[in-house]
Amino acid sequence: MTTSETAMTTWLRELPKAELHLHIEGTLEPELMFALADRNDVTLPYDSVEAVRAAYDFEDLPSFLNLYYQGMGVLHTQADFFDLAMAYFARAREDGVAHVELSFDPQAHLVRGVPLEAPFEGLLAACREAESRYGISSALIMSFLRDRDPAEALEVFERAAPWHSVVDAVGLDSAERDHPPGRFAKVFARARALGIPGVAHAGEEGPATYIREALETLDVCRVDHGVRCLEDADLVATLRERQIPLTVCPLSNVKLKVTPTLTEHPLPALREAGLNVTLNSDDPAYFGGGMLDNYVACHDAFGWTRDDFIDMTCNAVQAAFMAEERREALLERLA
Ligand SMILES: [Zn+2]
Repeated sequence: MTTSETAMTTWLRELPKAELHLHIEGTLEPELMFALADRNDVTLPYDSVEAVRAAYDFEDLPSFLNLYYQGMGVLHTQADFFDLAMAYFARAREDGVAHVELSFDPQAHLVRGVPLEAPFEGLLAACREAESRYGISSALIMSFLRDRDPAEALEVFERAAPWHSVVDAVGLDSAERDHPPGRFAKVFARARALGIPGVAHAGEEGPATYIREALETLDVCRVDHGVRCLEDADLVATLRERQIPLTVCPLSNVKLKVTPTLTEHPLPALREAGLNVTLNSDDPAYFGGGMLDNYVACHDAFGWTRDDFIDMTCNAVQAAFMAEERREALLERLA
């Protein structure tokens, strides 16, 4: 905490927040990227930490993904994934995050020859450590890359059978345009048959129809982003009636030019439409801030009150994959 921090920032920091939309590979800060490159003998196409940061001037989602997949090339072993997640948990604790749902992309590692054990066991060990060291609870979301073959997603999901009992949900991410969610109906149905719920990115760069498709063909219980739902009044009505949580990522949307500025962001309109909105950081190392930065930026842009933030934080806790006892304890702290 800095001495110049405002009373509102301090209050937002102390609010026990739940982060539902976080890609653990997107928490890789340039300093750790260089340390892991050194450890694993990987040559990075950058000379310095500053040069990496200078490259974070993205045009859109695809231009970010290029750098994102290059950055995760330094992750090889279980220890790398453990260190990555622990570095994130330490920052999350400073931000007052009480619960984190870590999404990760096994296919992005398998194609580099990194076996499933490395991310699964490294991340699970970090989740246990974060619980005992910081009191942060967590969940694991196994995500599939929508710009790759759906048959591969199904095959990878079956290969992950030893970890099905610790997968809290399956997800769908990566380049959205021209990659409709319906192609992944099989793997989501298979997960559902095993009692594993689904979430999916939809309506970030892709059209509102992808959100409807994710609901109807993947039967997702949450939509990641979903900001473009406002283009379809019937869809908005469905999302409102079913109170489907939207995991909105304000700073990410500005950085990837989904919206020109934060003040022009559809967040107030989404809330006015009676939708179930939550605030998240997405890929904090790349998009200019973690959970607290996102909360503070929204306060500055929209003038939201403490009650507004309590409302959205309660939405996140209600929508989280967590034990009921934990949920009740967090809701009590938010009351
Ligand atoms: Zn995302």
